[in-house]
Amino acid sequence: MTTLKAVRGTRDLLPPETALWNRIEATACAVFTRYNFGEIRTPVFEDTALFARGVGEETDIVSKEMYTWEDRARAQSEKPQSLTLRPENTAGVVRAYIEHKLGETGQLQKSYYIGPQFRRERPQKGRYRQFSQIGAEVIGPPSAGSESPLRDAEVLEMLATLLDELGITGWTLEINSVGSSADRARYNEVLREALIPIAPKMCVDCQRRAVTNPLRVLDCKVPEDQPIIDTLPKIVDSLDYASKTHFAAVLAALDAAGVPYTRNHRLVRGLDYYTRTTFEFTHGGLGAQNSLLGGGRYDGLSEAIGGPKAPGIGFAMGEDRLVLTLQALNQGSAQPRVDAFVAPLGDAKDEAALMRINAAALALARELRRAGLSIELGDGSFRLKKSFETADKVARRIVILGEDELQSGILTVKDFSSGTQTKVPRAELATHLSQPAAK
Ligand code: AMP
Repeated sequence: MTTLKAVRGTRDLLPPETALWNRIEATACAVFTRYNFGEIRTPVFEDTALFARGVGEETDIVSKEMYTWEDRARAQSEKPQSLTLRPENTAGVVRAYIEHKLGETGQLQKSYYIGPQFRRERPQKGRYRQFSQIGAEVIGPPSAGSESPLRDAEVLEMLATLLDELGITGWTLEINSVGSSADRARYNEVLREALIPIAPKMCVDCQRRAVTNPLRVLDCKVPEDQPIIDTLPKIVDSLDYASKTHFAAVLAALDAAGVPYTRNHRLVRGLDYYTRTTFEFTHGGLGAQNSLLGGGRYDGLSEAIGGPKAPGIGFAMGEDRLVLTLQALNQGSAQPRVDAFVAPLGDAKDEAALMRINAAALALARELRRAGLSIELGDGSFRLKKSFETADKVARRIVILGEDELQSGILTVKDFSSGTQTKVPRAELATHLSQPAAK
């Protein structure tokens, strides 16, 4: 029989690495809570139309990467429906905002999410078909201040704080403004004109893009094309007064807060819904897939999926990439040691004695765990040597529980880091084990 494996592009996360995932999630929740964000959990699958309209039919995600299936009707009363595993979470959050009429509260909705996303991409390091994103969105009616550049700056400042608290050093914030859709259309024409004389010197993809969608020339990665692209007109010069002022206000607030950034005139992210501010945080330690997170403002998204006017800004960070970055910075987690290993010592040939000592060991472990200690439990059939070897791999100390100890109530404790062995009365054991190891 062929052995079954996790599907290509998916993987199992095992301890001790999962401890790092937990730490990242706990830090993110703590930071988001300080900025008054609340958690939202939306379904893992949605109506396909949500992504077609919300992310855009022309994007790579929708045109090539979605896991979509025709969901059969189970009863006469049901209709078959096209469903899709979510490739991103912003569309789901905005759908929930509309569905629950959250705009009617008149307040800004500040929500964050953590969860799996699915894209049929070519797997490589840092790029998976199931990956986890941690994201947040600020949405609301314009009267709640949702269009204010202060919202953009606050989200970016929060991200800088989160990365700092996670211990991710050496990140770069790249920022740009793509203006309104009218600004972008104007810029596309400026680019089209500028590309006429130079496109023949560029790669074949760029030659095609120069005609079909000039904006996408800015995504070109071909080294020979880079100096040519650097000479092209910049989108900032096509922005109208309102977009320019908005962007200047975002940058001024970042300057005041001391958040460093780099202007990247080429950051015109792939999704149709972006307006004005777009940004990415990158990290050199990641190699080819160097984007830690991306986001931007999406003032027209709610209307695009049938909702009221609800400008917003948000981001999604790749949790898998945060883990890779922390591991590259040597901040991955080593196997944590438990406080103690309780080693029952019995006579393997005497079944009744073995049962008694194992049972007593479980009772002792329960007592210690309830006192807040982390405990691993051995087995009375182990020889003393095997107990010590097992314990030394997983615990800071070993507690020996044999017939003598059971009778006397005095336990033998050995501390692995100092090598000292002590006799401790049972009543004092929990306190003794919670002390830092002696040097
Ligand atoms: P996007 O939703 O494409 O703007 O991506 C936001 C972030 O999600 C990126 O910066 C990555 O960190 C992460 N990400 C996107 N696609 C993948 C993937 N296939 N595997 C792992 N992380 C991803």
